[in-house]
Amino acid sequence: MFGKRLDELEEACLLREITDRLSPQGRVIETGKGPLTSFASNDYLGLCNHPLLKEAAARAVEEYGTGAGASRLLSGGTALHRELEILLSRLKGTEASLLFNSGYAANTGVIPAISGEDTFIFSDELNHASLIEGCRLSRSPVFVYRHNDTDHLESLLSDHRGRRPLIVTDSVFSMDGDIAPLDRLRDLALDYGGILYVDDAHGTGVLGGGRGALSHFGLPPEPFIIQMGTLSKALGSCGAFVAASGEVVRWLVNRARTLIFSTALPPPVVAASLAAVRIILHDDTLVRMLWEKRALLLRGLSSAGIATGRSATPIIPIELRDNPAALRLSGFLRDRGLYVPAVRRPAVRTPRVRITLSAVHTHEDIGLLVKTLEEARNCGLF
Ligand SMILES: *Cc1c(COP(=O)(O)O)cnc(C)c1O
Repeated sequence: MFGKRLDELEEACLLREITDRLSPQGRVIETGKGPLTSFASNDYLGLCNHPLLKEAAARAVEEYGTGAGASRLLSGGTALHRELEILLSRLKGTEASLLFNSGYAANTGVIPAISGEDTFIFSDELNHASLIEGCRLSRSPVFVYRHNDTDHLESLLSDHRGRRPLIVTDSVFSMDGDIAPLDRLRDLALDYGGILYVDDAHGTGVLGGGRGALSHFGLPPEPFIIQMGTLSKALGSCGAFVAASGEVVRWLVNRARTLIFSTALPPPVVAASLAAVRIILHDDTLVRMLWEKRALLLRGLSSAGIATGRSATPIIPIELRDNPAALRLSGFLRDRGLYVPAVRRPAVRTPRVRITLSAVHTHEDIGLLVKTLEEARNCGLF
């Protein structure tokens, strides 16, 4: 039924396949064809396989079992869910927070819930797919502004008055690793009487000493700012949360369909997230290690003359001419024991290989990556 279309994808170098692991997530993974040093996860702090998270999850299985068994609004929540929300509010400095089952579910549930017939949405052109989906589901008119271009946003805001603006942005853009100008976006939201919705999936546990993008900018939480964060990336677990005012959270409990009509997160997953937030709140060692590794890699790439685009975070893209070039470079690295995936359309406009760093990478891992990239360049691969 889809054979012809699959063939077309393959011819365009756009066919994707799933690579599964036989080992835990980590700096070295096993996929059945020998170990690979991986630069392909969002496990920025190495928490996916951390003893404290594993112990917390195992204890929660004993105490609460495996599944949640119901939506949060029925009987799915536990004391662990409550405790995690309190701790997340502390991490973000907000009045309240609310768990969702994934970042995707948070964005597609929250954006429609906070917008309506009185809303105009303003969305960065490079926003994550789940934000775009959330905007579509809202059925509000959406005005797309040029990437991180606050002048363009301001002109759209002033051209489209009469409804409350909802400005929607990633904090860290997941394919380029650059950071949204949240200070400017906050001012615009305030000036135009709107709401700023920040998807901090790649900022939580990474920026601002781990507290996220607002802290990175020294911005305090405010009633008109809604922060979304994930527990599935730096926090090494699964799920997501919204941190906001108590009023916003009460509204979401009543209106966010992905919360209301979906089974709550399993207790062991919540317990692992709790352990992760505790680590970040009490000790910034892992976050500092992550940024040290990033500085080391950037120095290496820069002295090799390899460009890293707009990256300002542990997400580091190397842009390539076309899809085949991205696949060739990724394959070259893989043959040498390094897993750096190629990213192609529709995820990005410019094909690239995308490096993501973790606090658990060693200096040797990073040295080998730089050396192998230099080799690839000398072979004419880019
Ligand atoms: C990964 C990601 C999501 C989705 O989060 P999941 O918990 O994986 O569903 C949402 N927004 C951004 C910016 C992301 O990078």
